Amino acid sequence: MQKQYAIRLKPAEASGYETIIDHIAAVEGIDPSSITGFYTVKRSIDARSRQVWVNMTVMATLNEPFIERPHIPFHFHNVRSSAKKVVIIGAGPAGLFAALELLQLGVKPVILERGKNVRDRRRDLAILNKQGVINPDSNYCFGEGGAGTYSDGKLYTRSTKRGNISKVLQLLVKFGADENIIYEAHPHIGTNKLPRIITAIREHIIDCGGEVHFEEKLTDFDIRDNRIAAAITSNGNGFEAEAFLLATGHSARDIFELLQRKKILIESKPFALGVRIEHPQKLIDSMQYHCEIRDPFLPPASYSMVEQVHEKGVFSFCMCPGGIIAPASTSPGELVVNGWSPSKRDNEYANSGMVVEVTTKDLLLNSTKKFFPSLHTEATDPLALMRFQQAVEERAFQGGGGKFVAPAQRMADFTAKRHSTSLPGCSYLPGIKSHDLDYVLPPFIHERLRGGFVAFGKKMKGYLTNEAVVVATESRTSSPVRIPRTEAFHHPQISNLYPCGEGAGYAGGIVSAAMDGEKLATTIAHLYK
Ligand SMILES: Cc1cc2nc3c(=O)[nH]c(=O)nc-3n(C[C@H](O)[C@H](O)[C@H](O)COP(=O)(O)OP(=O)(O)OC[C@H]3O[C@@H](n4cnc5c(N)ncnc54)[C@H](O)[C@@H]3O)c2cc1C
Repeated sequence: MQKQYAIRLKPAEASGYETIIDHIAAVEGIDPSSITGFYTVKRSIDARSRQVWVNMTVMATLNEPFIERPHIPFHFHNVRSSAKKVVIIGAGPAGLFAALELLQLGVKPVILERGKNVRDRRRDLAILNKQGVINPDSNYCFGEGGAGTYSDGKLYTRSTKRGNISKVLQLLVKFGADENIIYEAHPHIGTNKLPRIITAIREHIIDCGGEVHFEEKLTDFDIRDNRIAAAITSNGNGFEAEAFLLATGHSARDIFELLQRKKILIESKPFALGVRIEHPQKLIDSMQYHCEIRDPFLPPASYSMVEQVHEKGVFSFCMCPGGIIAPASTSPGELVVNGWSPSKRDNEYANSGMVVEVTTKDLLLNSTKKFFPSLHTEATDPLALMRFQQAVEERAFQGGGGKFVAPAQRMADFTAKRHSTSLPGCSYLPGIKSHDLDYVLPPFIHERLRGGFVAFGKKMKGYLTNEAVVVATESRTSSPVRIPRTEAFHHPQISNLYPCGEGAGYAGGIVSAAMDGEKLATTIAHLYK
């Protein structure tokens, strides 16, 4: 028989297979040999008290051959000669998972991706990190796998109502992710493992008869009778299909501009902007695990914080324990930072975004207008928030002095409005330069960040410290533009255009983007029935 157990163990005990078997045997008062095996259903860490505990739910098999974890049986069709075709623009999580879903429904996906495959893309990242030179079509946001490929690969999402999370996680496992992502409370894959998984997904799409075209950038749509007849690319190619799924991510400003130029309805959407903070990981471990040195059976500690400051939320975003701050810009002259970490999260620093919500009302503040006198944008312009985002990124680039060197300040100095005469070590490879961030971030942001840091310092003793560095700017948290869609998920004006994923404003992260891709693929495939 199978039986589920909720158990609570010390970290070292929780890592031992035999210990868990012995624990279940003791609970049941039976011999350990009558337990033929178990699998973990859920696993989380409870660090609220001095003794850190690992909470687990396990499913054990007793007195019969071991019954393994159930898996979703995926079945993919061969669509090589299928006349049912969908053009997917963008090979990020939304586009790739839409393609996988279409294959399961017998429809041929044709993916157009502006960037390169993961291997060639890696070379462009090295040039960016070492020489401070960016390729606008191949960087941390653009290329195979999208912004998710060289990310932390955190798979935690609050969007439980948007789709089947377990299906996304099981597909990732099918293509090479560790099975622990299925049961960890805060699953993550790690930058070192993601490219292999993305490659396996692409190879599978092609094996099933789908098409993946790299360095094929969408630049125009051929529109007839309120329908797209073809997607036109920078190489002069036209790709025809019945339906077009637009999953180009939140950094494809040229796509938002194209839609505006063609009078295809778009709307501005509130987003969040701020900085990335980096502490020594040891410091975060000692604060979160109440110890001098982290128990080797515990993962590097993380945190999540939120505070209301002057009626706006200041919150941590995309925390990367044992991580690296990365240059996530997509154009010359604009500086954007983000974070990633390897699967072991064994780098010596812990970084996290710290951001403030931005709405079009903030553009109307006198302090914002004074800060950006040359930012001529009407709050009613759908691209107003995007232009603002771009203006902050340009300030950050100038503040660093070029080559993607990032302007930075020690955390306590920033909070006390003091110039930093020196900076601590930092994981950001292009380098950091001391520069007062009040010159980069408009007042409604830097004032709230200060208030947030003071509050966080009270919640987590030692958090507000000059050992930490504040790096600008974390500006691509989500899309500043929404591409509207009807209840049937197509654009209200263009009946065969399906805006999808984070860039269209319907997702915020790898898993929610993947689920949005699956959802739209299902809708489109049903049109062919
Ligand atoms: C460094 C970093 C770390 C991150 N860490 C995490 C994390 O740990 N967990 C998490 O959930 N999220 C993380 N994110 C965010 C996550 O990557 C995104 O939310 C997710 O990738 C969005 O998926 P998407 O498919 O909607 O868009 P994207 O991933 O942005 O993909 C869009 C794709 O479209 C392509 N494209 C753009 N324009 C065109 C065009 N004109 N023609 C053809 N193709 C085009 C792009 O090249 C890109 O490949 C991170 C992002 C970054 C940059």
